Amino acid sequence: MTSVTRPDCVRRDDEDPLGSFRGRFLLPEGLVYLDGNSLGALPAQTPGRIAQTVEHEWGRRLIASWNEAGWWEKPRTLGARLAPLVGAAPHEVVVGDGTSANLFKTLVAALRLNPGRDVVLGEAGNFPTDLYITEGVTEIMGAVERRVDADNRAALAGALAAGDVAVALLSHVDYRTGALRDMAEITRLAHANGALVVWDLCHSVGALPVRLADCGADFAVGCTYKYLNAGPGAPAFIFAAARHHAAARQPLTGWHGHARPFDFADGYAPAEGASRFLSGSQPVVAAAALDASLELWQEVDLDLLRAKSLALTELFIELTEPAGLELATPRAAERRGSQVSLRHPQGYAMVQALIERGVVGDFRAPDILRFGFAPLYLRYADVFDAATALVDVVHSGEWRDPRFAVARAVT
Ligand SMILES: *Cc1c(COP(=O)(O)O)cnc(C)c1O
Repeated sequence: MTSVTRPDCVRRDDEDPLGSFRGRFLLPEGLVYLDGNSLGALPAQTPGRIAQTVEHEWGRRLIASWNEAGWWEKPRTLGARLAPLVGAAPHEVVVGDGTSANLFKTLVAALRLNPGRDVVLGEAGNFPTDLYITEGVTEIMGAVERRVDADNRAALAGALAAGDVAVALLSHVDYRTGALRDMAEITRLAHANGALVVWDLCHSVGALPVRLADCGADFAVGCTYKYLNAGPGAPAFIFAAARHHAAARQPLTGWHGHARPFDFADGYAPAEGASRFLSGSQPVVAAAALDASLELWQEVDLDLLRAKSLALTELFIELTEPAGLELATPRAAERRGSQVSLRHPQGYAMVQALIERGVVGDFRAPDILRFGFAPLYLRYADVFDAATALVDVVHSGEWRDPRFAVARAVT
């Protein structure tokens, strides 16, 4: 039991070193938004940046903007800006395409880098697109897939020890439970067994400091519309460790990944560096939104971010205990991402009831009530209000109203 009061939370907000970031986002009044792990909030500087790209760069300068406004270089300049957020060197990250396409590219490249091995090690219960893309990749490559519980160290070690794993695809943070995996240790274990690793960073980039280089990571992918706040469908990124640049061959060999695209040669020759992971023209207007949000991220101290994230999730776990729902998220702070998941078979209706009260979380089948904590725009008082509302919804039974049971297309 906890005796934290709302005034205590307001006091913590007043002392919060990240507190000023809240005002840098355009959030509806009165809403507690705990779904920034699905679609991040809109930074105040983003609409102006998009307008500038559309009205000036496109509208007035037209084709000249490919050079003048740096459109052609955006995959690299944005990649370099994003690199510190994932602990990579600037030339190891490129921005472009979506996470699903980038999973495809990195998995095929990793399989090709590890000839003689034909197993892709995946995790049971991973985000669907990771599993589905793996199915597609193994079919095309004549490889096979094996799945393990990524939170079971013995199972992971056993699967890698078989000696036939070419590449493991693992989520850094589990999208359902919020469990944070030990990237350094698992990467080391994979390498010791001759396997490469593709890390999916969708639920860790912008949620906590990611240290790809320190962990010796091979490849990573991630989206930018969750904790990075770059907007719906914003371009994703690929990290490729510099040591793999010369030999890596990805399958979507479009002209943006060519060594000399403006030679317009008939044959493909891969570009140097991470640029070889690019394919075709990118959505420049969407990239403008990412540009604006990454500018804001340059100001963020990631250690402060992590400390606040853990404080927010800890507070939510404590304050929602009276609801009596099972905690699906690891209780140990060092094993937790920036979300809290609770289990209940009627979780969908409970989340709908909460949304009606202005507290936005989401539900992941079969029984997960999921709450994301974006430390840049969430306040301790928001956490207090959200937790109080959840306890109230559960105790009052208001979620039993039939209108909350109606499933919508997007949950
Ligand atoms: C959100 C998410 C994705 C998203 O893939 P898209 O191609 O952007 O739709 C992929 N993997 C994980 C683990 C995710 O959480």
